[in-house]
Amino acid sequence: MPLEMVALAVPINKEESMAKFRCKICGYIYDEEKEGRPVTDIDYCPRCKMDQTYFVPVEEDEESD
Ligand SMILES: [Zn+2]
Repeated sequence: MPLEMVALAVPINKEESMAKFRCKICGYIYDEEKEGRPVTDIDYCPRCKMDQTYFVPVEEDEESD
């Protein structure tokens, strides 16, 4: 089933479903809302090409450090 269908079928909390992640290797910030897809949907970091498992959740108030 295409992801679009899943999104329509399952009511989701936008606050919880869209998050930001930081690459532990290069510090790249992956914004799911801006990118339009979850971080788990990509195979590797767009910047350093390391595996996406290196991405860690970023707290909103942690963003400006
Ligand atoms: Zn990276």
